[in-house]
Formats: sequence, structure tokens, C-alpha cells
Amino acid sequence: MSLALGEALEAMAGFPEIAPTDFVRRGLLVIAPHPDDESLGCGGLIAACRAAGLPVSILIVSDGAGSHPGSALFPPAILAALRQEEAIMAAAVLGVGASHVHFAGLPDRSVPMSGYEAERACERIAALAAAADVVAVTWRHDPHGDHKASFALARAAVGRVPGAGLWEYPIWGLTLPPKMALPGERPRGVRVHVADHLPAKRRAIAAHASQTTALIVDDPKGFRLTPEMLARFDTEWETFIECPL
Ligand SMILES: [Zn+2]
Repeated sequence: MSLALGEALEAMAGFPEIAPTDFVRRGLLVIAPHPDDESLGCGGLIAACRAAGLPVSILIVSDGAGSHPGSALFPPAILAALRQEEAIMAAAVLGVGASHVHFAGLPDRSVPMSGYEAERACERIAALAAAADVVAVTWRHDPHGDHKASFALARAAVGRVPGAGLWEYPIWGLTLPPKMALPGERPRGVRVHVADHLPAKRRAIAAHASQTTALIVDDPKGFRLTPEMLARFDTEWETFIECPL
């Protein structure tokens, strides 16, 4: 089975709309391949859950050190530390304390899908997922190796945890050509209403200043989220695709 991305997007637009607290009832775990994915894909849901008093944990899979490989002012260790700080600030804006933000520290651009480090990350995800009924991870079709690897790690981990469901949030998959064929069936899922929490989501995304501004001045080829990309996430709902385990 396969379908075009355009058909998948159409299916997503028709997902039933629900309130955040009808989606998450016990606790939320967000797996982000890079510091910023959690705010882009789930910032509204995170803020809504915290406002309702639900526990939220965030696990950032990679160290984020690969976004500006040409910068001398921000070599990998400094950049990783900066991005960790940004993730903690973004989480605070959404109501999540630093003790609930976890960093697996795997290498940006080479998150492994197997081997010792991958198994350790899996164990960590499974331990955090025990307190959650919803685990959210980036979409399996996101065209980025770290996003695909994070999905694979989360699927393996959540399969070990009774009571937790896995949901996928699209980031880079939204930018694929509409006619591109994706393996798999028509997606099913939900659109979660987050309008009340959009201002907090915007502030959380802005906290990732290394990815959204010209903060790092000495690497013009470094990564930067474009206004077009940011606009895709500036919506009153967030999309979660159900992942059968
Ligand atoms: Zn990412």
C-alpha cells in the first residue's frame, strides 16, 4: 500500500477535532529528535496539559550540535550547551520544569537506530512512558534521519509499556512534494485544539533563538527556520497520527 503525501495531508485535515484533555488523560511524553521539534509540533498540547495539571515530560534525543557546522563562535560543545538551555527555557514557557526535560545526548545528524546507545535511549523512553498515556514522536515519514531514528526508538520503547499509546506529529514531512508516494495506509489520528495556548507556543518556539534568529552570525549556511516553515505550525490545532503498535 502507498499513498501520495497530498492524500495524507487531506486525511489529516479531516481528522476529528478534540480537546487536549480528551486526548491526554493521565500524562504526556514528548520525544523530540532536536531541541525545537517539541515546541513546533506539540507546544500547544504541552501547554494545555500543564494548564490542566497533567504531568508532561520531554525527551530531546540528539544534542543539536549539528545545526551550525561552520560556526567558529559556536563549536559543537558550545552549541549543544546553548541548545540545551534554549530547550529548558522553551519548556519553562510551556509550564514544564527543568527536572522534566531530559536529554539523551545522541549525535545530531547520526542518531542511531540500533546498537548500545540506541538501546539505552529506548530504555529511557520506556521508563518515562510508564507515566504517560500519550507518547508523541515525530512522523515516520519526516525526511530527516534523526526524525526517522527517533520514531524507531520510540516505537520499540512504547511497545514495551502497557497503557501508553504512540502518536506521530509531522514536522519536515509537511514540506515534501505533494505527489510523493508514501508507503503505508491512509493515516488516522486527531486534531487537538490548542488555540488558547498559541501565544505560549509562539514564545516557546522563539526561545530556540539559535534556530529562529541570526544569533549565530558566523555561519550563513547554518540552519534557520524560515517564516514559511514557522507559519505551518502557527495554527489553532496540532495534528497527531495514531501509530498502531
Ligand atoms: Zn528536528
